[in-house]
Amino acid sequence: MASETEKTVHQCQCDICQAGNDDETVRHHRQMNLFLSRLNEPQRRWYVGLLSQKPGSASDRQLSLITGLDEETIRRGRRELEAGLTDVPDSRQRREGGGRLPAEKKTRC
Ligand SMILES: [Zn+2]
Repeated sequence: MASETEKTVHQCQCDICQAGNDDETVRHHRQMNLFLSRLNEPQRRWYVGLLSQKPGSASDRQLSLITGLDEETIRRGRRELEAGLTDVPDSRQRREGGGRLPAEKKTRC
């Protein structure tokens, strides 16, 4: 039975992974998509927007094939990063649905 995560993790569509003859790249792209599947939507486009700015990195089109994000989404992530993410609230400050409580600091008496 396929694991639940497999359904939500994007399968890379780049030429290298399609050919399947470069294990290192295939593994790297799979891990990128696994990582992306754990991020929320803005985080995904910021991460890929950031990757797109790395010197010598893949083109937006290539990153779009790898991650499944639209090229426009990647450009948007890049623009938001350049703008300092000012329009986007810091989700850590208020997270819906509770989740983990902040660790209590141990106070010494
Ligand atoms: Zn790939």
